[in-house]
Amino acid sequence: MNTNTLSRNTILLIEDEENIRSFISTTLKNQGYKIITAATGTEGLHLSASLCPDVILLDLGLPDMDGMDIIRQLRTWTSVPVIVISARSNEHEKAKALDCGADDYITKPFSTVELLARIRTSLRHSSQMSDQPAMHQKPYHHKALTINYSDHVVTLEGNIIHLTQIEYKLLTLLARNSGKVLTYTFIMEKIWGPYVDNNNQILRVNMANIRRKIEKNPAAPEYVFTEIGIGYRMAESD
Ligand code: CA
Repeated sequence: MNTNTLSRNTILLIEDEENIRSFISTTLKNQGYKIITAATGTEGLHLSASLCPDVILLDLGLPDMDGMDIIRQLRTWTSVPVIVISARSNEHEKAKALDCGADDYITKPFSTVELLARIRTSLRHSSQMSDQPAMHQKPYHHKALTINYSDHVVTLEGNIIHLTQIEYKLLTLLARNSGKVLTYTFIMEKIWGPYVDNNNQILRVNMANIRRKIEKNPAAPEYVFTEIGIGYRMAESD
């Protein structure tokens, strides 16, 4: 993505803490983004509707509304990427925000590099969703791993990796969303359907098998990372 593309992207920041608002605004302006800010949930929802931003950064702890309600309201009419800014290290809450329809989260305090990476990933995903049918999605490629969706082939250093059907579905779900965290609940429902038991043992077992097949050292993965208490995130495709 070049600078010209970036400069056209508008980001709405919904955050009540003034110092964080000004820090994020300055950082993003310096990167060429156009930034709009709101200090309350009500104002944030209003601006989302009137200005149609490309990404929304949402603080979960706002004075007038519960962050989860904001996400739910947004999701009734827009698929704009929502990145939750959470001060709390509460994994349950982050997972809940993702399951309500947020795309990703970032925990305070965060680095500028981290923030920009999350925004880039979200923008990339939303543009892919709008102009690329899944069938024509370009292959996943990172380090030695390649996944070719059209012919269902996964290779590591050029050698074909044999995966079960479930393992393939699981790996490609993560790869198609590479760079983004996917919650256990989301993955379980996508792979095993809505009536699956919410015990995620079956997911862990399958993930362990995938890691044995694709990771040099499954304890220090290069491709699929565990977000403790939340889910998994696959390394972003090159
Ligand atoms: Ca706050």
